[in-house]
Amino acid sequence: MSILKVYNPLNIEIDHGDGVYLYCKKGTRYLDFTSGIGVTSLGHSHPSLISALKSQAEKIWHCSNLFRIENQQIVADKITQNSFAESVFFCNSGTEAVEAGIKVIRKYFNAVNEKRFKIICAKNSFHGRTYAAISASGKSKLTEGFEPVLNGFKQVAFNDSKAVSRSVDKETAAIMIETVQGEGGITPAKKDYLRDIQKIANDNNLLLFFDEVQCGVGRTGKFLATEWVKELKPNIVAVAKGIGGGFPIGALLLDKKTSKSMDLGSHGSTFGGNPLAMAVAQEVLNFVLNEEFLDHVREIGFNLRKLLRENILTKFPKLVSGVRGIGLMVGLEAIENNEILIKSLIKEKLLTVKAGQNVIRMLPPLILEMKHVEEAIEKIDKAFSNL
Ligand SMILES: *Cc1c(COP(=O)(O)O)cnc(C)c1O
Repeated sequence: MSILKVYNPLNIEIDHGDGVYLYCKKGTRYLDFTSGIGVTSLGHSHPSLISALKSQAEKIWHCSNLFRIENQQIVADKITQNSFAESVFFCNSGTEAVEAGIKVIRKYFNAVNEKRFKIICAKNSFHGRTYAAISASGKSKLTEGFEPVLNGFKQVAFNDSKAVSRSVDKETAAIMIETVQGEGGITPAKKDYLRDIQKIANDNNLLLFFDEVQCGVGRTGKFLATEWVKELKPNIVAVAKGIGGGFPIGALLLDKKTSKSMDLGSHGSTFGGNPLAMAVAQEVLNFVLNEEFLDHVREIGFNLRKLLRENILTKFPKLVSGVRGIGLMVGLEAIENNEILIKSLIKEKLLTVKAGQNVIRMLPPLILEMKHVEEAIEKIDKAFSNL
């Protein structure tokens, strides 16, 4: 095998995609509730994205941040005009955005001359695969064999603000969580918990860093999931997956005070914000920043969860026990091994992905329509009836 054995792919070779569907060479059609793990937010082969990428490809692919990149400015302006952010740093993946965020935290306290470096994180979290990201997550599965990991990260129970406040000491710099835990099992942070950690941050002069690599950019029905709680004032937010619609892009959003601490040359990326990436991101944002689009995500997500409860939970109480999530970030709680259920869904040509806590994770493209929801419910019904 010439590909490093770090993945264990299904025996399905994708040939092409169209909207919410994926096709094999032989023509087998799958309803895609994975979106390449929350990435293809506008579905596959979206004509606007194809045309944005094609026309940019004919102009300039890459020139590096040695030069001004018009599209990068446009994308950054769009993001800052529609969020808490004062500035944006572009990179190429989720873990790079997280890594940048952690560097920003350290740099901020260095700039204000305070010896603070510790970051309070959540158990069961996932932040990517760089050293800082696996150190933050603290999961033994991610760190095994790679020790020693970085110092200064402490994981406490998610959705437990008392555990956070107990962990604050004079060296604590920040609280860092996923606004909705994705890999961990589609667990939204509770609103009261978010209000509480805002207060803890205010009282102790800590930065708040939200990892929205999976839940950001429209996935929950808001541009950023932190917008669900009005009182929440993030200092830093990492996004990635959905913002490129399939083109590899990461971005770190910074508020005013953290932006100020990052001076010339303090961070960088060869590919970050490259013209091809920014042409696509611009187009994705044209859709996702539209309030009607976000309304649609909220409504269709609500209907998906409703039908899962009414038609699947009630009919298969021995197989599944609950539905969780927000917007189009949905988890079906398995009683049986989730992998067995996911396999049964593949047989019916519905693609989902596993998550922690024995959850079947559904991250369909945000352009999902009611007819696709109904199709999915039929497929789940059929698959589970056969078990
Ligand atoms: C996927 C993910 C990452 C890592 O993103 P990569 O692009 O794979 O590096 C980080 N944080 C969260 C919450 C994610 O879901």
